[in-house]
Amino acid sequence: MSDQNQYLKNSKLITAHYGEEYEHYYNAIVPPVFMNSLNVFETLDEYYEFDRRDKHKYCYGRVQNPTVRILEDKIRALEHGLGALAFASGMAAATTAVLSVCKAGSHVVCIHNAYGPLKDFLNGYCREHMNISVTYVEGDRLEEFEAAVREDTDLVILESPSSVIFSLQDIRGVAEIAGKCGAKVYIDNTYCTSVYQQPLDLGADIVMHTTSKYIGGHSDVIGGMLAVKDPGLMERLLAYRELFGGIPGPMEAWLMIRGLRTMEVRIAKHQETAMAVAKFLENHPRVRKVNYPGLPSHPQYELMKRQQSGNTGLLSFEIDGTAEQAAQLAQSLEIFKIGVSWGGFESLVFLPHARQTPENCRVLRGDRNIIRIHCGLEGEENLISDLESAFEKL
Ligand SMILES: *Cc1c(COP(=O)(O)O)cnc(C)c1O
Repeated sequence: MSDQNQYLKNSKLITAHYGEEYEHYYNAIVPPVFMNSLNVFETLDEYYEFDRRDKHKYCYGRVQNPTVRILEDKIRALEHGLGALAFASGMAAATTAVLSVCKAGSHVVCIHNAYGPLKDFLNGYCREHMNISVTYVEGDRLEEFEAAVREDTDLVILESPSSVIFSLQDIRGVAEIAGKCGAKVYIDNTYCTSVYQQPLDLGADIVMHTTSKYIGGHSDVIGGMLAVKDPGLMERLLAYRELFGGIPGPMEAWLMIRGLRTMEVRIAKHQETAMAVAKFLENHPRVRKVNYPGLPSHPQYELMKRQQSGNTGLLSFEIDGTAEQAAQLAQSLEIFKIGVSWGGFESLVFLPHARQTPENCRVLRGDRNIIRIHCGLEGEENLISDLESAFEKL
């Protein structure tokens, strides 16, 4: 592309064309999978003096790969960042971010509803091996962050909306509070994707995605991304990714590039379907509560309108019934399959709190009967009729 700047303002052009250099691969409209583990050099000087940030110079596949690089350029542009890095999973991205920002003895502030395995990493590895301490907050009110941050706070971990109860955090407000004590703000942006929310513009420092969800979009790839705006942090993340070895394979990167091309049209459909399903559930006599940030009844609807330009296909609800009845409902569904993960073409159902203790349910603000569904691309009328039949069997 001769002038890529014009592309930078438009997410559709970014996913379709940005970062691609057709002239370097025989004008193929789709870039090749650079399935090589190393690149060779004419001279030793050329090897020792090359700059790892140069888009046209590569040495070894654990450091960088041209297919991976195209994916990173697109995510950087979508997130309005200075740099982005791809990883072999969302958790590889998340743990690399934590280990790059925190040091032994760091204090971290994290929301209770952050992704479970990330909390396991903080509570387990980080506490045991690095003496890192964590203060958990619900995260709905800025005063909680004011009270939780300290002089030694290095990192604040957000996920907005969170992916079980769909609570939001005021990203701009948290960034201001964290900025006063020099802490970095990390946010999991997987739910909104880079199309419906740009947290770096709101003051966040690190945006994380698991590309296993909407970016991949077809339930056939595991991957992660980080996007940042600070050059020093970008340098550190690049260096640590190389040392930790978390770069994805070129084939996975290629699948993520392919997923990205249709992401915007897919999530628009996921949103439309989820909205129809959410309204159906909200009006159902056996449903006590629906958690979907796109519903005007969502308690943080105003905040949602301020910081997001859309919502996607995941939502949850609590039935007027026991956890056993919720399980029965989930198992009566036919189109919605029981499974974790989300963001693919298929509809899924899961009871994320089915084995939680009552104490944890209280902390996580969702009862054992909370049902999470991902509204896939099978058509809203089919999904609603699937839910209707399952309710009738209750
Ligand atoms: C799935 C998920 C992750 C973890 O991503 P992996 O690619 O499975 O490592 C992180 N955050 C959220 C919100 C997720 O749903």
